[in-house]
Amino acid sequence: MATPKGWKPPDRRRVKRIMLKLCQAYGAPVLRAHRAPVDELVLTVLSQNTNDRNRDVAYGRLRERYDSWAAVRDAPPGEVEDAIRPGGLAPTKAVRIQAILRAIGDDDLAWMEGAPVQEAREYLCSLPGVGSKTAACVLLFSYGREDIPVDTHVYRVGTRLGLFRPKAPLEEAHDEILRLAAPGDAYELHVSLIRHGRRTCHARTPACTECVLLRMCPHGRAAVRDGWA
Ligand code: SF4
Repeated sequence: MATPKGWKPPDRRRVKRIMLKLCQAYGAPVLRAHRAPVDELVLTVLSQNTNDRNRDVAYGRLRERYDSWAAVRDAPPGEVEDAIRPGGLAPTKAVRIQAILRAIGDDDLAWMEGAPVQEAREYLCSLPGVGSKTAACVLLFSYGREDIPVDTHVYRVGTRLGLFRPKAPLEEAHDEILRLAAPGDAYELHVSLIRHGRRTCHARTPACTECVLLRMCPHGRAAVRDGWA
């Protein structure tokens, strides 16, 4: 892997300092693992290309209409599509959800609580349309396993802070942040970076002059120095 000039891979201590500063600023998040991996899998598919509110409406309608995941799997595709329409991309998501449910069959995925993380991740990524972000959501939110979903906020904030190689593909960013997170820090790191992306490090106009990470952030220092933040 080529290393661009001026970028050095960070170490774990730096990532820990970033996480602690963000926890001071926004509070330390507490994981409540719900132990419902199939629910999380479906919810994460519904979250693609939409906001949390629309995702939740779509999910709620699906749960109201069907009393089990087997019933969703065996329903006419048009019916499932209609139920999840408020979440957007309903035809694609309905096909994907039913394909995933067919692939897992009667497996409730509870074995993922104790299986090696890599084995569980590989299984999830073998399901139709499931990538490392969805797999990480299932593992982290269902059971608190050591995985970190790299969503748009994590990717943007991490890139600006220099945690990832500039323009690193998502898969590389995922592997890199997992390498950088200290054992037990996955959830705190993930949620802290998302909170920071939503509240301060906005996509278009990051509030660098108010940011607790300014001194540690190459992007923010350049922005303030050059007067565009
Ligand atoms: S200094 Fe600016 S770019 Fe860097 S993390 Fe803070 S808000 Fe984001």
